Amino acid sequence: GKWVYTFGDGKAEGQATLRDLLGGKGANLAEMANLGLPVPPGFTIPTSVCTYFYDHDKTYPKELKAQVEKALDYVGKLTGKTFGDAKNPLLVSVRSGARASMPGMMDTVLNLGLNDRTVEALAELSGDRRFAYDSYRRFITMYSDVVLGFEHHHFEDILDTFKDGQGYSLDTDLTGDDWVELVGKYKEAVAKETGHDFPQDPHDQLWGAIGAVFSSWMNARAVTYRKLHDIPESWGTAVNVQAMVFGNMGETSATGVAFTRNPSTGESKLYGEFLINAQGEDVVAGIRTPQDITEEARQESGSDKLSMEAAMPVAFKELTRIYTLLEKHYRDMQDMEFTVEQGKLWMLQTRGGKRTAKAALRIAVELANEGLISRKDAVTRIDPASLDQLLHPTIDPAAKRDVIATGLPASPGAASGEIVFSSDEAAKLQADGRKVILVRIETSPEDIHGMHAAEGILTTRGGMTSHAAVVARGMGKPCVSGCGTIRVDYGRGTMSVGQRTFKTGDVITIDGSVGQVLAGRMPMIEPELSGEFGTLMGWADEVRKLGVRVNGDTPDDARTAVKFGAEGIGLCRTEHMFFEETRIRTVREMILSEDEQSRRAALSKLLPMQRADFVELFEIMKGLPVTIRLLDPPLHEFLPHTQAEIEEVARAMNTDPRKLADRARELSEFNPMLGFRGCRLAIAYPEIAEMQARAIFEAAVEAGKRTGKPVGLEVMVPLIATKAEFDLVKARIDATANAVMKETGAKLTYQVGTMIELPRACLMAGEVAETAEFFSFGTNDLTQTTYGISRDDAASFLGTYVAKGILEIDPFISVDRDGVGELVKIGVTRGRKTRPSLKVGICGEHGGDPASVAFCHEVGLDYVSCSPYRVPIARLAAAQAAL
Ligand code: PEP
Ligand code: MG
Repeated sequence: GKWVYTFGDGKAEGQATLRDLLGGKGANLAEMANLGLPVPPGFTIPTSVCTYFYDHDKTYPKELKAQVEKALDYVGKLTGKTFGDAKNPLLVSVRSGARASMPGMMDTVLNLGLNDRTVEALAELSGDRRFAYDSYRRFITMYSDVVLGFEHHHFEDILDTFKDGQGYSLDTDLTGDDWVELVGKYKEAVAKETGHDFPQDPHDQLWGAIGAVFSSWMNARAVTYRKLHDIPESWGTAVNVQAMVFGNMGETSATGVAFTRNPSTGESKLYGEFLINAQGEDVVAGIRTPQDITEEARQESGSDKLSMEAAMPVAFKELTRIYTLLEKHYRDMQDMEFTVEQGKLWMLQTRGGKRTAKAALRIAVELANEGLISRKDAVTRIDPASLDQLLHPTIDPAAKRDVIATGLPASPGAASGEIVFSSDEAAKLQADGRKVILVRIETSPEDIHGMHAAEGILTTRGGMTSHAAVVARGMGKPCVSGCGTIRVDYGRGTMSVGQRTFKTGDVITIDGSVGQVLAGRMPMIEPELSGEFGTLMGWADEVRKLGVRVNGDTPDDARTAVKFGAEGIGLCRTEHMFFEETRIRTVREMILSEDEQSRRAALSKLLPMQRADFVELFEIMKGLPVTIRLLDPPLHEFLPHTQAEIEEVARAMNTDPRKLADRARELSEFNPMLGFRGCRLAIAYPEIAEMQARAIFEAAVEAGKRTGKPVGLEVMVPLIATKAEFDLVKARIDATANAVMKETGAKLTYQVGTMIELPRACLMAGEVAETAEFFSFGTNDLTQTTYGISRDDAASFLGTYVAKGILEIDPFISVDRDGVGELVKIGVTRGRKTRPSLKVGICGEHGGDPASVAFCHEVGLDYVSCSPYRVPIARLAAAQAAL
């Protein structure tokens, strides 16, 4: 078999399309080599070897060794060096590279091939003993850490002790001889702790590193990350071995990262950071503050350090040529790593850059406008769920800001919360329903759970490409990074700036769009949507087949939804109109009435409130369809609970509180979600449906007069199991409509339809459609009743079901295609068979879940209806389903 793929010198055995085999990094290195770009030569050991490794008791295919030797010779030939040679040694980097970018795995070992002999050769060749031994100690540190499991901090302790002894404060104070001495100490420590000398044979080093990469595929962090991101274990990782180039060979050398467009805003300008005389991860690690790449960026940041453009004009020009070429070639924004070795630019990596939702939108729209991609491509490139980020609140500009400190605007948006200093604490408090800001000196992959749990992230160290910044942008959370004036004391649980000290639990606000940290909680305002948002949503609307409506009960909901492009109200839950304190009392009166007369008295109080609400909704919706559902109050949500509540209602009803308490007890149910709710109420007490119908129709007449437009009225009956139930309620509705028309002389057009949210209703859909003019699937109740899982109690065990793999995802979040979905299909098919013009939608929470929206598209629904903030998500998901 073929177990090694070489690249270098203008050609490669692999290419970008072999990502599954070569991993992202390996495939793109091959592609860049094929494009003739300056890539240090190297080779990739593909993911198939990783698979073999785990299938064969952690052993390698027998041909691998020879193939690696041959590839090393090839790299040696191209570089004019020899692996392990005492005069002109080839040094390599070893990096992991899976199909998807995967923090948590072994990342990088640099300078591999150095030993006590080759380090002398490197000193000789470079004429710089300090550089050679600095490189050697870096290698010992990285290798010991990731291959030998001897942790990094041991070396830091040795280094700190040494520096203290010499009276040094910076690493750069160390001389060549100092590093020689330290290398000796490092090796001693390794030998003492591990019981083995640090490996001197470069081949042993190489196989050690290769084994460490493959083993890291199954380490706990990588396994967790894969679970969180649905990455299959079977993919495996590749290993990339590549000739070293040195960014730490003095002032004409550098290392950096760059994006072809700004990953925060999407602006089409080269963007990035670099460090002169530095190696590998120095930029990302945030140990030194990086420098700007372009002169323009330097002027904007006001940095007093030279830009790359000014300091290394030739390498900068080359970088400009290459990034333009790469973006055209990949037709997407690229995230690149590069090194300048004594003035010459080398490309070490390119990949599709992570970006904020805002940047993603702008980039997709601009790439389409530039003709690099089609509009349809642009629509498919945006993750619908990510739109959430754009719709988040920002700080009210009118509010007074008490700025504690300013750092980098690493990820946009604003958030307030209690300070926590550890990720475990963040996760714990969030589970208790608290909102927290995670404050760290810097973050690492071990902090992912804390970052997930936090509202926002604040770090005191690290640049715009630091771990915290990159990960927060990916998560769509506000982040301020590199806030160097803040001193964090983990031990005491405090952070201080100048004279001010804040402790665990104090509330702060971060503004990730400008990089500010503010004291206290700030008032937030609704987001303003960018031009690109409108453009892309317009492109999405051109291709989608599904309509998108909103589940909205209040004028605010309706206005927000219209702004977000909702094409109507798909569900107005009228019981929600009574959650407000003074109103719920009246609903209680109505529910607790013992006879029709007192019930009618309560209803007559509710009528004008309902009518006024409806008029307002109809006016906002301006003739768009509005689906109003008759009362569906699960009794436990509406019955009075406390003595005070009982007395209050009793007073209003002019009855004895004790009698009322008895009545409430009588009405309380064992299974309220399966109890006296939905149309059952209207069947038992037709006067309730009648009052609501009257409020609806009178409001429609009124709104029609005011707007000069007929209301797109749809009246909906909840929770039916039989046609007879529906017909009985519909008869009341029609009779009331006729009465209102007669009284007012107005003509009303409306439809009467039903929720389909019980399995029996799905099965009987053919019969129900004889009289129902539309269906709306209530997949919340349908999921509850199909599974026999209580909506209100499921949380206590569904997590376990998901963890044990019994369910892939909570079926209340994403529709269960196999079971619930099958019932929906039956309902649609049988309903439309009876009435081909039957309008069918969905209004369960699933209407805003992208995977469920795709399902709705596939089964041919007319529309989905979801909560206001998810309307844009549904529009985009519907477009993607149609492409
Ligand atoms: C449903 O059951 O899916 C639905 C939309 O109704 P509710 O959530 O109000 O029961
Ligand atoms: Mg329901």
